Amino acid sequence: MPETKTKKDEDFNEWYNEIVELADLCDKRYPIKGMNIWRPYGWKLMNNVDGLIRHEMEKTNHQEVYFPLLIPESFFKKEEEHIEGFGSEVYWITHAGTNELEERWLLRPTSETAMYPIFSLWIRSHSDLPLKIFQIVNTFRYETKQTRAFIRVREIHFFEAHTCHKDFDDAEGQIEEDKAIADRFLKRLCLPYVFSKRPDWDKFAGAYYTISIDILMPSGRTLQIGSIHQYRDNFSKPYEISYETEEGTHAYCHQTTYGMSERLLGAIIGVHGDNKGLVIPPEVAPIQVVIIPIIFKGKEQGVMDACNALHNKLKDENIRSRVDTRETTPGNKYYDWELKGVPLRVEIGPRDLEKNEIVIVRRDTSEKKSILQKGAEEAIKNELDKIATTLFNDADNVLNENMHRVLTVDEAKNKKGIIELPWCGNEGCALEVEDILEGNTLGEPIEDTKCGHSCPICSKPSKTWMRFARTY
Ligand SMILES: [Zn+2]
Repeated sequence: MPETKTKKDEDFNEWYNEIVELADLCDKRYPIKGMNIWRPYGWKLMNNVDGLIRHEMEKTNHQEVYFPLLIPESFFKKEEEHIEGFGSEVYWITHAGTNELEERWLLRPTSETAMYPIFSLWIRSHSDLPLKIFQIVNTFRYETKQTRAFIRVREIHFFEAHTCHKDFDDAEGQIEEDKAIADRFLKRLCLPYVFSKRPDWDKFAGAYYTISIDILMPSGRTLQIGSIHQYRDNFSKPYEISYETEEGTHAYCHQTTYGMSERLLGAIIGVHGDNKGLVIPPEVAPIQVVIIPIIFKGKEQGVMDACNALHNKLKDENIRSRVDTRETTPGNKYYDWELKGVPLRVEIGPRDLEKNEIVIVRRDTSEKKSILQKGAEEAIKNELDKIATTLFNDADNVLNENMHRVLTVDEAKNKKGIIELPWCGNEGCALEVEDILEGNTLGEPIEDTKCGHSCPICSKPSKTWMRFARTY
């Protein structure tokens, strides 16, 4: 069976670059670096992921909005840390036609500064709270580092939820809800993750604190696939988002945001793929089951009828399937759908039909077996669930094997993945560890944080752990 040119375990980064185009997810030939074309198969996959997000948002009473792409400079400039953090990454519009604009506009790098002046108009009284909205839009950041499809791009497919609350505690409740959303949602993508509280010097520009959601790629590097921010009243003060309390006084809102992007796709590709191509988690696969007719002369009609009948039965069960009727060999078809990561393949030939059977083949394990035609839709549904469970458990094992809690930098040096070391709370010590390990500070764990050891750099007592990893 043909495989990708580059082997995943030999050169993960090259394998990744190869697979995103071979599997028809994107086309990288557009002449602006970091702005790739979404091909139909990739876009469908992203839409399915977005569908799960929308479902979660609906369940938790968030409402979808759409704010304009362009932000006036005066809006952008109200929160100082935010400008400092994003200043070097924004694209500016200075001209309209031949006229120079009186006020420059920028392409949103994220939408705080577009939304918050408007929130101050929307929110008047405590009865307007909490305000919970989200949008799924494109955002733009001028990346100077090497770009990589779905992982480091300049036009970002971005999910952003923004909420306003009556006080800090209510906003903290939102952070808890966001964590639960992430947990449910990422399970459906079969992606185990870690939450880390980012260090102060590396939090989102303007945030009170930031919780990052990171996954581990097979290269041993982590990929941040999302973040949850507590803003406290850091934005509501400059943007004057205040409300009248029940007692008739005025108070500033406390705000949170939750962001994710097409890095989710990068994670799916990286974590689950193999040398044959993608392996897409069943819940988001554009095609969950591909049905391949095995044609012999004179028996075409019976086989085609059985294929179409199964396709219709699966449709009734809301399982996305396709009958591959192309004029090419079954072997070529297997190769093609394996490359595209379709979770389950069905083969139907005259000999199977004589026994009232069909053949199913799992993409993740290559396990092949015959099942009865009668009730096949139920068996297929169960098999898709099993695939999802296997994908999650395998990835979870890899993550657990690559999380290391150690006491000294020497021990850490020999480890791959995510390293936890005692941390005294001093920025300098963390940065020194970064230098030694040639990695980045991920942040503190948010659970199981207690540490009674001493800092490996300065030997001072450490109350907590700090995580380090090489990152994308
Ligand atoms: Zn220290």
